[in-house]
Amino acid sequence: MSGGKTIFKRIIDREVPADIVYEDDQCLAFRDINPQAPTHILVIPKKEIPSLAEVQQEDEALLGHLLVVANQLAGRCQLAEGYRVVINCGRHGGQSVDHLHLHLLGGRPMHWPPG
Ligand code: AMP
Repeated sequence: MSGGKTIFKRIIDREVPADIVYEDDQCLAFRDINPQAPTHILVIPKKEIPSLAEVQQEDEALLGHLLVVANQLAGRCQLAEGYRVVINCGRHGGQSVDHLHLHLLGGRPMHWPPG
């Protein structure tokens, strides 16, 4: 039984393995299991926020921290040509895991508009 936890909470709790590339007291970053680019890392807060639609004013610094970490990981992954950060939100946004996460995508040119 998962105990109602999302897959990402189970990764935070080390109940499910992941290729973790960064961790601090506020967040965890690990490689996406189904990568859509040569570099595809998910940056997630340890705080259980279901989606961007449910962030509170008190989460402002945390959200900024996630972006700073994403940029640091881009540097570490040598994405000097650029990269894309994506937050899917809700059904129309294509969100499939109900734990807020940033996708860091790089290593190839990205297209616009997204599908
Ligand atoms: P989203 O569709 O924005 O909710 O993104 C969820 C992402 O989580 C997808 O890109 C999945 O490939 C990824 N994902 C789901 N389960 C795992 C897992 N166990 N380890 C790593 N990535 C996962």
